[in-house]
Amino acid sequence: MAGNQDYYELLGVAKTAAPEEIKKAYKKMAMKYHPDRNPGDKDAEEKFKKINEAYEVLSNPEKRQIYDQYGEDGLKGGAGMDGADFSEMFKNAGFGGGFSNLGDIFDNMFGGGGRRRARNMPQQGTDLVSKIVITFKESYSGISKEISFNRSSTCQFCNGSGAEPGSSRKACPTCKGTGQVRSGNGFFSISQTCPTCRGEGTIIEKPCTHCRGTGFLKETKKVEVKVPAGIADGMQIRVAGEGNAGLNGGPRGDVYVDVRVREDELFTREGNDIFVEIPITYSQAALGDKIEVPTMDGPVDMTLPAGTQPNTKMRLKDKGFPDVHGRGKGALYVIFKLEVPRNLSDAHKEAIQKLKEFEKEIRERPTLKDYLDKIKKWFGK
Ligand SMILES: [Zn+2]
Ligand SMILES: [Zn+2]
Repeated sequence: MAGNQDYYELLGVAKTAAPEEIKKAYKKMAMKYHPDRNPGDKDAEEKFKKINEAYEVLSNPEKRQIYDQYGEDGLKGGAGMDGADFSEMFKNAGFGGGFSNLGDIFDNMFGGGGRRRARNMPQQGTDLVSKIVITFKESYSGISKEISFNRSSTCQFCNGSGAEPGSSRKACPTCKGTGQVRSGNGFFSISQTCPTCRGEGTIIEKPCTHCRGTGFLKETKKVEVKVPAGIADGMQIRVAGEGNAGLNGGPRGDVYVDVRVREDELFTREGNDIFVEIPITYSQAALGDKIEVPTMDGPVDMTLPAGTQPNTKMRLKDKGFPDVHGRGKGALYVIFKLEVPRNLSDAHKEAIQKLKEFEKEIRERPTLKDYLDKIKKWFGK
């Protein structure tokens, strides 16, 4: 299951890193590669697994020491470990099978008993996903577009407290302000987080009538999104800090804007290259011609050489998409499609008929000559 990459390298910390440093690095990486934030991205998922694996080891002083001394094999019960399966042991200790959601990460970060602390800590709001549809031309030149979406905001009437202005919080009657309730008696007494106040010790006396005590209100937000030139269908733009409101004064989440690019009637895209098909007639192909070719920046004149074959591709350098990361430009490929006429007029038919008669006269000759040349070559003459 383990990859070969060094655990320290995976988390981007030095071998001498303090536990706090490792925790910080892990949290950052785990947030970045979390599957919820990278839907459908197999690489991110794989990375996320490995980061968890690395943290599982490096966050545990004993395991870390074994890892430092014996490497991954030491943890598998190799090098002198008396066959003890450490990874299995730790899985049984409840730290194994990876995390299923961001909440789990927090729970693990702050430990089971730290729930109350975690609850009151500032937490970043959740991310939102929005969508933008642009034309092919807009994806070429870049554009600024307004998006509108619903998000949660801190209720301005109660400042997010959830309590009706003028009223305050009062000690929770269930737990009398301790945040914990005890059950059982005699030898066994189990302490649990208070279900009424969820461990906070206080409850709202009178819920805010605007947000019904939640501390949040829904709002419709409009944001101007800068879509960079060269963006392709399926890419995502991150608009930082415009997502749902955070908890306990934490920052807003982000908005991820899915970009959809409408297909164009004329042009298609592959990477940063653009393809355009130009229909040409038989006479143009045979005799050559001056033709006008459309590009994203307007038409350009091109010379069609005499004897152009069907599906000939010509490359116009730097007429493709600008790379969205600023790495140069793609090319424009013009593909010449031989168009065979249909529904001929009498005059057209007559002209082609003449061509046919002429072709009949010359048909055998070049083919025969070609054939004789090949025979000669074969016998080495
Ligand atoms: Zn309110
Ligand atoms: Zn309580």
